[in-house]
Amino acid sequence: MSQAKKSVFARTALTQNGWENDVLVEIDAPGRIGSVVPESKVAATAYTVDILLPAQANLHSHTFQRAMAGLSEARSPAGRDSFWTWREIMYRFLDILDPEDIEAIAAFAFVEMLESGYSSVAEFHYVHHQPGGEPYAQLGELSERIAAAASATGIGLTLLPVAYMQGGVDGRALAGGQLRFGNDFDRYVKLAAQAEKAARSAGPDADFGVAPHSIRAVNERDLKALEQHFRAMPFHIHIAEQIPEIEEVQAAYGQRPMSWLLDHLPVDERWCLIHSTHMTAEETRRVAQSGAVAGLCPITEANLGDGIFDGVNYLAAGGRFGTGSDSNIRISPSEELRQLEYSQRLRDVSRVTLSVEGKSCGRTLYDTALSGGAQALGRDSGSIAPGKWADMIALDVENPALLGLTGDRLLDGWIFAGDRQAVSDVWSAGRHVVHEGRHRDRDAIFKTYKTRLASILARI
Ligand code: ZN
Repeated sequence: MSQAKKSVFARTALTQNGWENDVLVEIDAPGRIGSVVPESKVAATAYTVDILLPAQANLHSHTFQRAMAGLSEARSPAGRDSFWTWREIMYRFLDILDPEDIEAIAAFAFVEMLESGYSSVAEFHYVHHQPGGEPYAQLGELSERIAAAASATGIGLTLLPVAYMQGGVDGRALAGGQLRFGNDFDRYVKLAAQAEKAARSAGPDADFGVAPHSIRAVNERDLKALEQHFRAMPFHIHIAEQIPEIEEVQAAYGQRPMSWLLDHLPVDERWCLIHSTHMTAEETRRVAQSGAVAGLCPITEANLGDGIFDGVNYLAAGGRFGTGSDSNIRISPSEELRQLEYSQRLRDVSRVTLSVEGKSCGRTLYDTALSGGAQALGRDSGSIAPGKWADMIALDVENPALLGLTGDRLLDGWIFAGDRQAVSDVWSAGRHVVHEGRHRDRDAIFKTYKTRLASILARI
């Protein structure tokens, strides 16, 4: 493969200056972009591609849920299925996973992320302990497994160990599968230190942040203490995903969760508000003005029946967003953006809803998610520009969804008519991990995943 080739020549590329032709991108030793020169001659030493784009960051993932795909789509005997009946299945599923399972699933999910066009991921990692809640001998064992999977696959990791302290906003105790998540504040700080060490060992570009699971799972005192203790790093939280959650918080705190959060915590650029599905007009405006990133996961939100994000008003108010693969039932950045746009079209009986002047819909979606994703991960990426991590993807000009298209229409073709098969190459911080559409270690990682999955399904 092209390990020796530390420059990429693209016939067309979306750089910091827009679409340019015959672009030579030099990658320096740590994996950052050294120079970007348009109108270049083909260099014999360069790896040549047709279409080069900045790669998306996946801002929200629970990798273990990848192995649940297909297990939660049968109607339950109890009646109406919902997020909450799905959550029961998810809790039972995670309660049978061992550390080898968790590492194998994470590695395969990371391979699929890379092959579909993500270069990096924020793993919102909440399974910390053994079934029943007893910690592993090494408190950060499962964080180390996630970091090992990232290191083996070459994906850029921002590891977010999750703080989960209570079973509901009323302070009830953890139960069932939740016992694997729980830590009080002091033990969480110890676990976070081990997770940070593991994360930073995954690569020079790897990073670390903190994730209180939700307002349901962390009370006001601990949420404020976490915010005080972990400064100057990404801070992610699930919020306003489900209507019963909003009613629960409103009953306990007298306010909707998003309004309560904005009134009680200093929400700013380091915050990523996962889902933000159900917002009032006032909340939409306030989140947009806060500088925080709305962490949208449109495929999972559709699968779980969460609801529709207020995207049109949010974008008009200058709001920032990125996308995440969340439950990983389907991993594809282009399809996340398509689902986001289609949700708005279906609700508004309209077309081309998320688009700013001078850019097509696909370009608007792609650009907004690039900068929002990089901000949410605390990652110096999101554009092909000198000094940024070399997080890039190449698209195959022969893919049927792209034939004959140029400029922004390439993104429109990929997002609305294509899928991950259009992705030929992927670099993460200069690591050329996907070549001709396949991850460099796909076969071995798939084989391990297949074996572990068979064993997991036999235990259910
Ligand atoms: Zn989530």
